[in-house]
Amino acid sequence: MRISDILQKKGKTFSFEFFPPKTDAGHQTLFNTLRKLKPLNPDFVSVTYGAGGSTREKSFEIVDTIKNQIGLEVMAHFTCVGHSVDELQPSLDELKKRGIDNILALRGDPPKGQPDWKPSPNSYHYASDLVKHIRIGGHFCIGVAGYPEVHPQAESRQKDLENLKRKVDEGADFVITQLFFNNDDYFRYVDDAAKAGVFCRIIPGIMPITNFGQIKKFSEMGGAKIPDLLVESLTEVESDATEVTLLGLEYAMKQCRDLISGGAPGLHFYTLNKSATTRIIFENL
Ligand SMILES: Cc1cc2nc3c(=O)[nH]c(=O)nc-3n(C[C@H](O)[C@H](O)[C@H](O)COP(=O)(O)OP(=O)(O)OC[C@H]3O[C@@H](n4cnc5c(N)ncnc54)[C@H](O)[C@@H]3O)c2cc1C
Repeated sequence: MRISDILQKKGKTFSFEFFPPKTDAGHQTLFNTLRKLKPLNPDFVSVTYGAGGSTREKSFEIVDTIKNQIGLEVMAHFTCVGHSVDELQPSLDELKKRGIDNILALRGDPPKGQPDWKPSPNSYHYASDLVKHIRIGGHFCIGVAGYPEVHPQAESRQKDLENLKRKVDEGADFVITQLFFNNDDYFRYVDDAAKAGVFCRIIPGIMPITNFGQIKKFSEMGGAKIPDLLVESLTEVESDATEVTLLGLEYAMKQCRDLISGGAPGLHFYTLNKSATTRIIFENL
């Protein structure tokens, strides 16, 4: 089923994001998590796609299993960086053949540790080009990424909003945001996007903090600002993993409640392939 049809029927959607594991043990964890989260009846789940290459095929196999064996609606993430234009269509055809109806169309990140890397002339440089390509094919419902705190490589906030509009004008049906910890950033983004002419749903992406070190690193790389008070509290309990998880959970719970009461059209959880925190939040919303 196309997510756009789900959005038409439901005022708010709840979705979970997973990544393709690299090991057999990781694979087992992912499918245990899916089994535990399925009874929550998410509107859809999504699976990331390694722009670097190693997990690409796995990604397709996992979306196939989720859709055709587990029976959940699924969205495949798909990136254009590193793919020639000619390579894209066979992958899209394969997704269609596997019964997938939804794609999160992304640029992807250039390979790590290659500062001089340039996309090949025969590849799309931006997600908007990929959206246009997929829309011409006609089959898929298309989601795109949005950045409440501005994409780190954007020339300016305004240019980033113009890019979001370009992606929607090219055919994207909805937006899922990068994770953030300050709801004001999200609500301001939705307002500014509307002023820029973007009126489709902008679903907030939420990640409960379970690993302070990991999230600090992500934040330092321009990922998402962590509010000072939260940093102080997390620093105090940094050496105690359980306390970090409890604090992260408490913060995410309040964040989710405030987003929903403030009018957000649902929540998209970055699960990191674990079920506990997402399940607790979801059951207590
Ligand atoms: C919800 C979500 C899911 C994600 N899933 C994955 C995944 O599965 N795999 C993965 O590899 N990565 C994933 N990412 C990360 C994403 O690939 C990176 O953030 C990437 O750097 C940008 O992708 P994009 O699709 O937003 O790019 P774009 O929308 O193309 O934007 C990239 C940058 O280029 C700028 N830009 C766009 N068009 C133009 C133009 N015409 N001229 C000048 N500048 C322009 C934008 O402002 C922005 O700074 C995800 C991100 C989010 C938020």
